[in-house]
Amino acid sequence: MVSVAPDAFADPDVGRARLLELGIRVTAPRLAVLSAVAERPHSDADAVARAVRERLGTVSTQAVYDTLALFSAEGLLRRIAPAGSPARYETRVGDNHHHVTCRVCGAMADVDCAVGQVPCLTPADSHGYVIDEADVIYWGLCPSCQHAQPTDQPQPTDEPESTDKPEPTESKE
Ligand SMILES: [Zn+2]
Ligand SMILES: [Zn+2]
Repeated sequence: MVSVAPDAFADPDVGRARLLELGIRVTAPRLAVLSAVAERPHSDADAVARAVRERLGTVSTQAVYDTLALFSAEGLLRRIAPAGSPARYETRVGDNHHHVTCRVCGAMADVDCAVGQVPCLTPADSHGYVIDEADVIYWGLCPSCQHAQPTDQPQPTDEPESTDKPEPTESKE
């Protein structure tokens, strides 16, 4: 497979070429889903559906969910599943990078993998499993939420316990 930059899929021609390469039927909604995720990495399915409708008019939410599931299964998209919030999608796949997410507003940013090679982190005990990925989410407050007045902040929901240090959590697929 030819390697392209994650944001290159914002261009429908690049998306079309990759779908053909993977043997996935090319449709306007599928191309729109791919470019929406490329333009706004870490979007959840609802945000992708809104972006697709802005482009194409009526597209069912179910079609968007199905396309996201298909693309994730084909390795075209990476699915990130933070505890207690909807799954997010991105076109930056295959490099085992990690994420930092804000407990209050849900903003998410990429964190490069700690040692530069998959799976990046070695568990103290692998229990005999062959480990191929370490998917860490650091939880905390983004810069704008740190500066917001406490009264303006929605209460964090049932996220993992708040501690002084962001606590890496591993998502279970
Ligand atoms: Zn925030
Ligand atoms: Zn990412």
